Amino acid sequence: MTEDASAKKGLAAIKGTRDILPGEVEKWQALEGLARTTFELYGFRELRAPVFEATELFEKGTGSTSDVVTKEMYTFTDKGGRSITLRPEYTPSVARAIIEHRLDLEGAPMRYYYMGPMFRYDKPQKGRYRQFHQVDIEVFGEKDAAVDAEIIEMAHALLDKLGVTGTETLVNSVGCRACRPAYGAALREAAAKRKDELCADCQRKAETNPLRIFDCKVDACREAAASFPSIQDYLCEECREHFGKLLDGLDVLKIPYRVDPRLVRGLDYYTKTTFEIVASGLGAQNALLGGGRYDDMMKDFGGPDICGTGFAMGIERVLAVAALAPPERKILYLAYLGDKAKKAGLELARFFRANGVECLVEYKDRGMKAHFGRANKLQAAWVLIVGDNELRSGRFGLKDMASGRQFDGPREDLLALILKR
Ligand SMILES: [Zn+2]
Ligand SMILES: [Zn+2]
Repeated sequence: MTEDASAKKGLAAIKGTRDILPGEVEKWQALEGLARTTFELYGFRELRAPVFEATELFEKGTGSTSDVVTKEMYTFTDKGGRSITLRPEYTPSVARAIIEHRLDLEGAPMRYYYMGPMFRYDKPQKGRYRQFHQVDIEVFGEKDAAVDAEIIEMAHALLDKLGVTGTETLVNSVGCRACRPAYGAALREAAAKRKDELCADCQRKAETNPLRIFDCKVDACREAAASFPSIQDYLCEECREHFGKLLDGLDVLKIPYRVDPRLVRGLDYYTKTTFEIVASGLGAQNALLGGGRYDDMMKDFGGPDICGTGFAMGIERVLAVAALAPPERKILYLAYLGDKAKKAGLELARFFRANGVECLVEYKDRGMKAHFGRANKLQAAWVLIVGDNELRSGRFGLKDMASGRQFDGPREDLLALILKR
C-alpha cells in the first residue's frame, strides 16, 4: 500500500489501538516467554477463553457499580440480537469456564494463566489504550492467605526476570460480606459530610458504592478521602486473621510491602486481600499489576462455593520499565547466481533451516555485489554463495560478515561452522 492510500481516512488503526511491529514485538515475545516459564514453575497452566462474552457475565462478575461496567465496556448487539461485550478483564471468563466445564471436579490444581488483549472504552491517553494487553493469573479453591503471598512473590520473580527495578508492593484487606457493610455505612456517613467537596462522579458513588471514591484521581476527592475511616479498623475476626497470615507469608518470602488502607481496587468483587505492585517513573498510572481475592464470585455466578485469588499485569506498562535486551539474530543470507543456483538455493535453505539456522532467500535476481549490499543492509551474520561452480563441486562459499573471513566446503561442514559460532 502506498503512503497516500494508508493516510486516507478509515485505513489507519482505530483510535486507542496500535500495531506492535517487528523491532518492538521481540520484547513482547520475551515477556510472554518469561511469564509462561515462571508461572509453570508454580504449577500454573494456560487457559484460553474467548475474546467476547455475554455482557451479563461482566455485569455480574466485574460489578454493576464499577467504573469498568458503568462507563468503559465495549458492548454491542450482534446479528442474533444478543448483547455481547469485548472482555474488559479476564477473571469472569475463567470463573465461567470453571463452572461450564466443572474443572473443580477434576482434582487438578485450579491455577491458570493467560496473556492477551482486553478492551475498555476509556479516554485514550499516553500509555493507555482501548485495546490493551494483560498477563493474568488465577488460583481457585485455595482459601489460605499463604497462596496470596505466593502469587505476590511469583509476580516479583517475573518482574525480576524482566529487569524491572524500583517497585513497591502495597497490600490491604477490603474485608468480606460480614464486615464490609458496617464499613460502608461509616464511609457513607463520612462521604456525606464532605459531599460538597467531591466531584460529580464521587457524589454519585457516595450513595451507590462509597468504596469507589478511593479510586478517584481528582485532587479534592483524594483529599476528602484521606480523612475517611480506615477499613483496617472494621475488619472482622476472620478477615483480620487472614490479613495477618498474608503479612506473615510475605515476611517468610522476604517481600517488602507497605499496608495501604486506601487500596480498594476498582472492581466490586474483591474480598479480603488486595494488592498492587507499583513502579517509580510511570506517573499517576504507576500500577504494574494488581489483584486480590474474590471469594464470592463463583457463588454469585450460580456455581460452586469456590474462592479465588489472582492478579492482572499490564503488559504495556511493564514493558515501559522493563530492561529486556532484544534477542541476537544470526541470519544466513543466501546469495545465488543464475537460475540453476536459484533452484538449488531453495533446497539449501531448507537444509539450513531444518538444522536450526535462520536462512533468508530473496527471489530477486541480483549480481554478487548487490547480494552483498543487501546482506549488509539486513545485518546478516553470514552469506552463503551459490553459483554454477559451487553446484558442480558441492562446495559452497561462506562469508562471516563480521570478520570478513571466507570459508569453503560442503554444506555439512559450513553448517557445523555456523552452529559453532
Ligand atoms: Zn470480614
Ligand atoms: Zn471524585
